[in-house]
Amino acid sequence: MPDNTDFYCPLYNQGLYIEKLTQTEAQVSMCCYQTPSEKLYSDVDFINNDYLSSVRKTYANGQAPVECNACWRLEKLNYQSYRQGAILSQTVHQQSMHSTTVLTNLLYNCENVCNLKCIICGPRYSSLWKDDYKKLGYPIRDRTESKTKTKHNNIFSKLDFSKLENIHFQGGEPFLTTDHKKILQKARNDGSIGNLIVSYNTNGTMLPDQETIELWKQVKLVKIYFSIDSVGDSFNYVRFPADWKQVENNIVNGFFKITDINIVFSIGPTVNITNVFYIGDVINWVEKNIAYNLQGDSTEIYINPVGDVGYGGQVLNLKNLSHELQQRALEYLDKFQYHKAIPPIMNSLSFVSQNPDNWIDYLNQIDQIRSTNWQKALCQLSQHIV
Ligand code: SF4
Repeated sequence: MPDNTDFYCPLYNQGLYIEKLTQTEAQVSMCCYQTPSEKLYSDVDFINNDYLSSVRKTYANGQAPVECNACWRLEKLNYQSYRQGAILSQTVHQQSMHSTTVLTNLLYNCENVCNLKCIICGPRYSSLWKDDYKKLGYPIRDRTESKTKTKHNNIFSKLDFSKLENIHFQGGEPFLTTDHKKILQKARNDGSIGNLIVSYNTNGTMLPDQETIELWKQVKLVKIYFSIDSVGDSFNYVRFPADWKQVENNIVNGFFKITDINIVFSIGPTVNITNVFYIGDVINWVEKNIAYNLQGDSTEIYINPVGDVGYGGQVLNLKNLSHELQQRALEYLDKFQYHKAIPPIMNSLSFVSQNPDNWIDYLNQIDQIRSTNWQKALCQLSQHIV
């Protein structure tokens, strides 16, 4: 038996990620970090799916699957990878059946319907981005175009949810869709709803409706991860056209006032060039306003490194910061080193800059089409540009 414990992941046998692409088809993988299947599926057979089976085979042969390179890269930079998070949150029951192929963890990419066009995103994950992408002259994949018409895609309907223990929803903005409710209703029909830990990535602009609240009352635990990259004017710029005051009010006076459900909240900034000089503001805001969850646990901050989710995600990667700006960022972050979210960001700031000017061109172009002003909105960054 090959020794493959170093790259063991609970999701090889128990995870499924579904990203809907068309009216009837989806890409699959074991999580949202794994390279998705090229092939599209209209029916997902979790046990026999050829893509999932081939990753499982690689692991069984003692090799680290290349499809999981995103995790290996993060671990080299000392970030907590998705794999490491999955190991930490694995239940005893899941551990005991780690070698059995059974669906316990579902990650579901809801409609890409979104009310924001965040600076790091693109039309693959936000319907609102499409027109701006066209104006900027970036190519839009055909598949992405058709994603706006996926309302009636019930690709999950034939899956067996009876052993499900975790469901994570992302989007788009999941609370703008009905996908998450349909999936929770199916879990109820398949008998697993009472065992579920249900989590969401949300941009904080929407509150859950009453139907969602009623479904949440039936699950074991709800976890909400707010995508808060910054606060105030800089938040309004990077999460355009969100209004920080409204989002802040939703979080503090809406979500944090839900008392009749077992629910925990975390903050998940996606670190990139536009907010690396604002991460301390996020830490301060959390400590001042929502330091503790209702159960008395500290509100966690989980840093996500920006991914290639659109052109913005590529050019705003920290690896495009000039050497001088990296030094300024290190000096800034040094003041917040006491927080465990900060050292991994500092560790990642030690590379030879690849395209030090592309991100400035990108922000200038964005400003032209949105009538915004990045130098004013992001003055903690622009003050370092001479
Ligand atoms: S990408 Fe990471 S978390 Fe996902 S299946 Fe691979 S090792 Fe596990």
